[in-house]
Amino acid sequence: MEKRTDKATKQIRLLVSVFLSLLGLIALFLIFFYLMQGEGQLSAGGSIHEKPLIVLDAGHGGFDGGAVAPDGMAEAEINLAFCRILKPILESYGFEVLLTRKDASSLEKPDAGSTIRAKKRSDMQNRLEMMQAQPGSIFISIHQNASPYRSANGSVVYYSVSDPASKQLAEALQAAFIAYLQPENKRTAVAAGSNLYLLKNATGIAVLVECGFLSHAEEYQKLKESDYQKAFCLTLAHTLAKELPQLVGGETSSQQQEEISSESISS
Ligand SMILES: [Zn+2]
Repeated sequence: MEKRTDKATKQIRLLVSVFLSLLGLIALFLIFFYLMQGEGQLSAGGSIHEKPLIVLDAGHGGFDGGAVAPDGMAEAEINLAFCRILKPILESYGFEVLLTRKDASSLEKPDAGSTIRAKKRSDMQNRLEMMQAQPGSIFISIHQNASPYRSANGSVVYYSVSDPASKQLAEALQAAFIAYLQPENKRTAVAAGSNLYLLKNATGIAVLVECGFLSHAEEYQKLKESDYQKAFCLTLAHTLAKELPQLVGGETSSQQQEEISSESISS
């Protein structure tokens, strides 16, 4: 009887491991198929290219809470919550993601000085350096808005004017937030002025997303909810992945050109 039970247990274990291996294979196949689909659109030559790195910046932090909600919650905390959700979603789309800050701390250098102004300058310089250390990356900064006009609401996306692809990405994101999340939102993407230090000094693709207004009672409730944060992040990541071929399409690397020309010679 014991032997039979042993045999049955072994059979069940075998079945379970076969089932798990099958599940793993299916998951791998789905991921591979998905990535191939996305990558395939990237180049005219049809070859696979790495997806760019996203430098994901949770605005403010530490001494600098940013905008403050009526109940005292700081923008910095909500920005970080969005970025923590966004990172794995972007990774599931095949992007590599680098966070400028991973926790509640700000990013000023220890010797920055003791005034808020000096700390803020050092914090922003550090973020800029992190962006500039990754040429070819896409910079996305996440923020929350606030206004003395309590009726002001809706996402707004700012773009750096140094690279035309930034405007293209900002307009696509603005349209997607309206289409999927905020049908009443009449805002359009905005060219960053000199007050937005990171976008002003960016050399590559760079956008700043003001997800919504902490000063708007209803919108603030949504911005705090993880379900809304997830929906927002999915919309952002999906739009970025969809726009990517057009964003990088303007530039053809010399390697790609070589591949294309050697293909046309051989065919
Ligand atoms: Zn902010």
